[in-house]
Amino acid sequence: SFESMMEFSQFKINDQGLIPVIVQHYKTQEILMLAYMNEESFYETIKTGKMTYFSRSRQKLWVKGETSGHFQYVKSLTIDCDLDTLLAKVDQIGAACHTGNPTCFFQPLVGIDYDETNPLRIFESVYDTIADRKENPKEGSYTNYLFDKGIDKILKKIGEEATEVVIAAKNPNPEEVKYEIADFLYHAMVLMVEKGLTWEDIVKELADR
Ligand code: AMP
Ligand code: ZN
Ligand code: ZN
Ligand code: ZN
Repeated sequence: SFESMMEFSQFKINDQGLIPVIVQHYKTQEILMLAYMNEESFYETIKTGKMTYFSRSRQKLWVKGETSGHFQYVKSLTIDCDLDTLLAKVDQIGAACHTGNPTCFFQPLVGIDYDETNPLRIFESVYDTIADRKENPKEGSYTNYLFDKGIDKILKKIGEEATEVVIAAKNPNPEEVKYEIADFLYHAMVLMVEKGLTWEDIVKELADR
């Protein structure tokens, strides 16, 4: 259960008593969807910690995930400068979109959408795959080979990959450095999983310096 600094009555609502909510993934910052809240859904959201909207098509309270299981756990709610839009940062279970897409915003209109290469999204997803291999070993998986061999093998590989970065950097063509840094980061992530460190830990440490 959360406490709000402001009451819903202070918000600027539309003529149907609704306020739009921009929904963002709390880790990757990815924009997931846009939905609307009425007064009841706002207080339900705060009380339950689960994003609860007012469905305009069904004209009723809607707990996101009630049928799909794709709940959104509240991390924070913020109101914008002129009090007419909410921003919700959430821990999203499964896909935010009813189409099964991670985000509702997957139809390009103008320009290039850089979300596909959002570094945090990619790092988190590779990290999650590595952690999943550790939990549920997969036949023929190189990651499981590393975990099975143990920490010394992982450390040896990190040393090798770091050396390969140095050697590749001698080549004027940056392509090879690209491959080797990717190799290095992957093996560093195997070590992170082995040591129980998350990207959140690493990023916080960098940000605090
Ligand atoms: P859910 O809340 O995920 O259990 O989905 C229940 C219903 O809400 C779906 O059948 C859709 O009609 C609708 N819905 C779910 N997610 C979205 C979304 N991101 N945007 C619009 N409608 C949605
Ligand atoms: Zn505004
Ligand atoms: Zn959608
Ligand atoms: Zn390499």
